[in-house]
Amino acid sequence: MSPKSIYHCIQGELADLEKSASLRTVPEVDNGADRYLRFKGEDLLNLASNDYLGLAGDSVLKEGATDAVAKYGCGAAASRLVTGNFGIYDQLEKELAEFHNREDSMVFSSGYAANLAIMDAFADKKTVVFSDKLNHASILDGIRMSGARQVRYRHNDMEHLEKRMADHADCDSRILITDTIFSMDGDLAHMEHIADLCDRYDTMLVVDEAHAEGVFGQGRGLCREMGVSDRVDLHMGAFSKGLGSMGGAVSGRRELVSYLRNRGRSFVFSTALPPAVIGASLAALRLVRSDDSRGRRLLEMSRELKLYLESLGFDCGMTQSQIIPVILGDNERTLGAQKFLLTKGLYVAAIRPPTVPPNTARLRLSMRADFTRTDIDLIRMAFEALKEEFL
Ligand code: PMP
Repeated sequence: MSPKSIYHCIQGELADLEKSASLRTVPEVDNGADRYLRFKGEDLLNLASNDYLGLAGDSVLKEGATDAVAKYGCGAAASRLVTGNFGIYDQLEKELAEFHNREDSMVFSSGYAANLAIMDAFADKKTVVFSDKLNHASILDGIRMSGARQVRYRHNDMEHLEKRMADHADCDSRILITDTIFSMDGDLAHMEHIADLCDRYDTMLVVDEAHAEGVFGQGRGLCREMGVSDRVDLHMGAFSKGLGSMGGAVSGRRELVSYLRNRGRSFVFSTALPPAVIGASLAALRLVRSDDSRGRRLLEMSRELKLYLESLGFDCGMTQSQIIPVILGDNERTLGAQKFLLTKGLYVAAIRPPTVPPNTARLRLSMRADFTRTDIDLIRMAFEALKEEFL
């Protein structure tokens, strides 16, 4: 294709995206991780970030970051395996492994990079990877890049999963990977059942706890909450959400983590995170370890709000977490609802296909532990008004 025809194709695709109300643009948001963000000159209650515990702006994290900058500077300047390593990186990994009661942990530049590395290291053409249909895009991309055979099962459908596993029982190498909290639905993976099936079909179990960390299981994730963490081979998590910082992490047996350090290309060939991020992550980890009340408060508040929204007639799906979807179906309707809520003081994300299945466009409410009673009242009033306008 000539550059001119590539340009033509792209123009056409962008026009199609615009026509179907699917074109994405970066919003003009400022202070996007604060409880109140700034959008087009207005201060709006932030229901769209993943800063579930409200830690991104916490003074303890800021201090961790600034201390690390003062000591080490701003950049890591090389991959961890070359010279991009500092005492606090090792300290963070040591404390993380202790936190999860695992032999070893390693930190990645993002959760996305961690998922790519896991698949890169442990899967190849001969591997079958069982994957929930609603797993995060980074998992799908990792599987695709590894060349493994992806066997998807219907979302949270354990009968379907078992059938799929039985169909592939004679394969040499099997991995199951699942989000523990599904990012666009807020529902929970059936971890006990999944662990049983992995035992029965001799399958390596990998979990993505990105949205559960800091919130469930005294901050250690859903597997801890459900008492199955010892049955998980690799625990992947992220500092970028509940822990208010940045970076992915993987914890597990020493050999597995060591193998990842050698074979995970997104780790080997990428510059390490800057010291400020590691300093903030270490501070966040210590904070959650010493006090897990934020997560519990968040879940309590989320349960109450979900029940209230349902009582108004909204469809909140199967959520049991701090992520509350309000499923409206149609793209334009969802964008209209998002705009309407702006006028009521709320900033809410509108999520459309392909991020979610066709005809399930939704508002995604991301709750925060630092919401006050007044904030919750504001949300309630805004949705009461939305009901009058939309339902
Ligand atoms: N896993 C899940 C389930 C996620 O939702 C995300 C990010 N939205 C990631 C992994 C990637 O994490 P990060 O943003 O740190 O790259």
